[in-house]
Amino acid sequence: MTHPPKILDGKKLSHAVARTLSKKITTVSSRVGRVPGLAVILVGENPASKTYVAAKHRFAKECGIQTFDANLPSTISENDLIEIIRRYNLDDNVDGILLQLPLPKPLDGARFTRMIAPEKDADGLHPLNQGLLLQGLPAPRPCTPLGVMTMLDLALCSVELSEEITLADIPAASLAGKKAVVIGRSQLVGKPMGFLLLERNATVTFAHSRTSDLPAVCRDADIVVAAVGVPKLVKKEWVRPGAIVLDVGINRTAEGKLVGDVDYDDVAPVASAITPVPGGVGPMTVAMLMSNTVDNFLRRNNEAV
Ligand code: NAP
Repeated sequence: MTHPPKILDGKKLSHAVARTLSKKITTVSSRVGRVPGLAVILVGENPASKTYVAAKHRFAKECGIQTFDANLPSTISENDLIEIIRRYNLDDNVDGILLQLPLPKPLDGARFTRMIAPEKDADGLHPLNQGLLLQGLPAPRPCTPLGVMTMLDLALCSVELSEEITLADIPAASLAGKKAVVIGRSQLVGKPMGFLLLERNATVTFAHSRTSDLPAVCRDADIVVAAVGVPKLVKKEWVRPGAIVLDVGINRTAEGKLVGDVDYDDVAPVASAITPVPGGVGPMTVAMLMSNTVDNFLRRNNEAV
């Protein structure tokens, strides 16, 4: 590539999401008589979880979403945690429930995630909602893949991010005729990512640890999404000139630096658009948590999503 790539700035794009949600909330809340509510359940003292929860609170405030907090000790009993989820499930002011994972041992995060009412699922990870995704029916979608889709829309349009842009300025891209490779097949990222790409008519390949000749598989793609958890795995030789590269990975090096699954400095010169790490997909994941909460609020009040 002779042109420098379009840098897909997740921080700036997340503020565009906040502006979009804030406008929606202003319009609908006067009719409904309240703003959307997000319940945030944090169990234990995991420092990373506390940082993520703090970022989610800041972003909720920016959008105008009310938060309800349950900060619980790591010694909480299963029954007490079930009771707290049950109370939020029944609380009419709560539209989204976020159970910050991982839970301290021996609590099983997947089991408690299943106890969240599907219509209040903020993460889009409830099995019922993942089933609705497979069927192409409306439901909260998993936040990270949803954020990646918005970044892809930004990559494929001519809009430059500014303080005024909202999502209404960024059209949903058609991916008909485009080949996409998703590296990773987790329930959290890889699998739903592939289905969101398929929904937009991309031709999708799932790659994983048993894929042979992964570089060749990636080189065939117009869009590469890396959701692996291996620092700087994707190299320049893996990427077709002009491809769009979306890096979900968040890995900490021995020196404490955050790096993605893509070797950014190596790959950026050949890509047409690329996400940085940090400041790429991460902020968009938080933004999509709020977007899901607002969509739940709209659905629960029979308003158009
Ligand atoms: P995961 O559950 O560990 O899944 C990793 C996937 O990568 C698996 O499908 C695995 O294949 C595949 N894989 C592992 N090594 C590979 C290799 N050498 N070549 C090809 N495929 C390989 O991880 P995850 O939860 O999906 O997360 C992936 C990354 O995204 C992590 O760095 C995580 O921290 C990050 N993440 C970021 C965000 C965000 O907001 N930015 C959100 C979630 C996750 P097999 O299935 O064959 O084992």
